[in-house]
Amino acid sequence: MPVDGVDYAAQLESLLEQIRAKGVRDVRVLEAVRCTPRHLFVPESHRHYAYIDHALPIGEGQTISQPSLVAQMTQMLELTGGENVLEIGTGSGYQTAILRRLCARLTTVERFPRLTLQAFRNLQLLNLPPITFVIGDGTCGFAPYAPYDRILVTAGAPPKIPQPLIDQLSPDGGKLLLPLGSRQYQLLTRITKHGTRLRAKTFGECMFVPLVGKYGWQPDEVETWQPH
Ligand code: SAH
Repeated sequence: MPVDGVDYAAQLESLLEQIRAKGVRDVRVLEAVRCTPRHLFVPESHRHYAYIDHALPIGEGQTISQPSLVAQMTQMLELTGGENVLEIGTGSGYQTAILRRLCARLTTVERFPRLTLQAFRNLQLLNLPPITFVIGDGTCGFAPYAPYDRILVTAGAPPKIPQPLIDQLSPDGGKLLLPLGSRQYQLLTRITKHGTRLRAKTFGECMFVPLVGKYGWQPDEVETWQPH
């Protein structure tokens, strides 16, 4: 139905086609994307672009991720519905909304209080089960609810994986998905933990805003960096 003269539903269907074309076949993931109105998570100034497959600015120099990448990353987590999940980088809350439909418990961490507040307001409109919001440095994880079956990092980490995230991952097949690499380009990497053994699988190049924190990039290493 058109809102302010824009037919978001038709645009969403076209976006879903593009997401399928990029290899997302998990019907639960596709349904979660279909149920999540991305225009609610995008600032009004960019709302007309909400269903174009691009990252968009959300303030504080940060971006809402590209929707096909959000769907691909969600699929890579292989959620079955019962998992305890930690998300690092709440941002707009768009990925948070999609995850919440696919797991049992969700905690999301963001370093900018203003983005957390905005995401909280956006997510309230969707009638989702409870979500725990944490304002702080996600490179330290969030120990009170560990171990996590899944950890998703939506900001680009340096090549060395933050140790607290490995420590807080369930040894019983827990999966950590994160972009690892330089400040501009990263390799999307999935770590699976069995006991003390870690196995890594990479999924190709991506470009995220930097993960800034104690076990990530230092603030003075990223201050001149501008997101594309
Ligand atoms: N999934 C979000 C992506 C936002 S961009 C969305 O689609 O809207 C990545 C987010 O990670 C930014 O909001 C940034 O502020 C946040 N971030 C970067 N370093 C962080 C850290 N150490 N702890 C928590 N959040 C962090």
